[in-house]
Amino acid sequence: MLKGHNTFEVIFLAGFIVGSVIRKIYTARCRGVKTAKKYRSALDIILVGTAGVGMAMPLLYLFTPWLDFANYALPAWSGWVGTVVFAGAIFMLWRSHADLSRNWSATLRITGRHSLVTSGVYRYIRHPMYTAHLLWAIAQGLLLSNWLAGWAFLVLSIPLYLIRIPKEEQMMLEHFGEEYRSYMSRTGRLIPRIWK
Ligand code: SAH
Repeated sequence: MLKGHNTFEVIFLAGFIVGSVIRKIYTARCRGVKTAKKYRSALDIILVGTAGVGMAMPLLYLFTPWLDFANYALPAWSGWVGTVVFAGAIFMLWRSHADLSRNWSATLRITGRHSLVTSGVYRYIRHPMYTAHLLWAIAQGLLLSNWLAGWAFLVLSIPLYLIRIPKEEQMMLEHFGEEYRSYMSRTGRLIPRIWK
């Protein structure tokens, strides 16, 4: 049973469920996709696992008393801002999965019939799914009045971004060459490029 009765905890849980369902649906659609070249490393798997712990930490906070020592008070505006940010995260997660379609994978790889996606949300940013996770992590902190459950995802996912994004871009450059280089020149990594 959910022990808290705070509106923002309920909003968080609802968003968490919607986001998880979106992920499940699109992961299922990628079933059977063949790998042409693996770029997975032990480090990458550890980093994904670490970020995953941060993402799951709210469940401990919401359903057990174990993290209560880290409770603190947040102003109401924080919860409302968090709600808007979380809605943005879920929208981006949905759109990036829909646009990436069967080119998606949890670990780095090139699939058998990989095509470079440069439309939809990928038209403006190269890593909208990571942007979605970043927004999710910020929303988690703004919605939950517990500094551990709230901020763990943001803190634990920073190494993943710093290490994975350059590796992923290197892989895409290796595979798509000039096409990806030109795509890089007109897009931002995590936020749209507003400068020329
Ligand atoms: N970094 C992207 C995708 C995350 S999923 C994002 O944040 O939206 C990771 C996989 O997506 C990688 O293994 C790579 O094969 C694939 N990928 C990343 N960018 C892509 C693109 N523009 N077109 C097609 N596949 C891409």
